[in-house]
Amino acid sequence: MYGAVIHAPGDVRYEQRDDPTIEAPTDAVIRLAATCVCGSDLWTYRGTNPITRPLRMGHEYVGVVEEVGSEVRTIAPGDFVIGSFMASDGTCEICRAGYPSRCVNVVSMGSLGAQAELLRVPWADGTLVATPGAPAPELVPSLLAASDVLGTGWFAADAAAVGPGKTVAVVGDGAVGLLGVLAAKALGAERIIAMSRHADRQALARRFGATDIVTERGDDGVERIKELTNGLGAHSVIEAVGTQESMLQAIRSTRAGGHVGFVGVSHGVSLPGELLFYSEVHLFGGPAPVRRYLPDLIDRIWHREIDPGLVFDLTLPLAEVAEGYKAMDERRAIKTLLQP
Ligand SMILES: [Zn+2]
Repeated sequence: MYGAVIHAPGDVRYEQRDDPTIEAPTDAVIRLAATCVCGSDLWTYRGTNPITRPLRMGHEYVGVVEEVGSEVRTIAPGDFVIGSFMASDGTCEICRAGYPSRCVNVVSMGSLGAQAELLRVPWADGTLVATPGAPAPELVPSLLAASDVLGTGWFAADAAAVGPGKTVAVVGDGAVGLLGVLAAKALGAERIIAMSRHADRQALARRFGATDIVTERGDDGVERIKELTNGLGAHSVIEAVGTQESMLQAIRSTRAGGHVGFVGVSHGVSLPGELLFYSEVHLFGGPAPVRRYLPDLIDRIWHREIDPGLVFDLTLPLAEVAEGYKAMDERRAIKTLLQP
């Protein structure tokens, strides 16, 4: 089979790789219906994460089960399935408490490389959720989004305690930030302020439910959020970037007693204690427990209540994966869907 391998910053290749096989009785092997490039893949693509050897890439996936190990009970060959970017056993104390992305037996799907024709999924019962049947083709992008960016945006909104009557600010206009807007709308937020400088992303944010757009960043961005919230700051702030600037902007845009849900993969963030102390905000975040939300998200997509697949504004054959990365790196695309 073929899949994506990165050799150096900016050098993603479509290469022949070994076909995955059942290695443990709890594994499944799926044939990908669709996969995609994540904003977090760009950390590797841009060389922020060091590349010491060729790496398989990709951690978002939907597809049809080809084969399962002898201990797999809840899914079967032929099922159309979605799983999180983290494989989890579903049975340990951490999973049962609702934090499967920090399962004691967690396996990062990125290490297995989902930008491929076939994928081995560890802990198939704990990781995968089958859809009620074969999905209509137009639902596939939205189901794929549930694998990471929708689930992550949803967690961010949940972590930020979004709910009816709340004013929500969203820092970051990538796919996760935009789907944080969608999640905030679905969870009943009254006002949703999207922070974005890009016209195409502002338009999508509005389509997903944003009521206000703030183009300023840093001190000016915080000032604008304060102006829009009677000088108090937002009740709930979603941080979907992962930099020092975005984290500080998120914390400083939150009112005392409010909540920050941070899901941008942290790179070089160091928070000043004094700011934290006097901001008096709740901070909660990390790798989203996407698996916890999947049954609900699949149900909402299946009944066409939400359309998160709109974040895919470029679709390419998997063989053109290199261009998929390049387009996102150059911000010509919000998110690239790849068809094996
Ligand atoms: Zn677990």
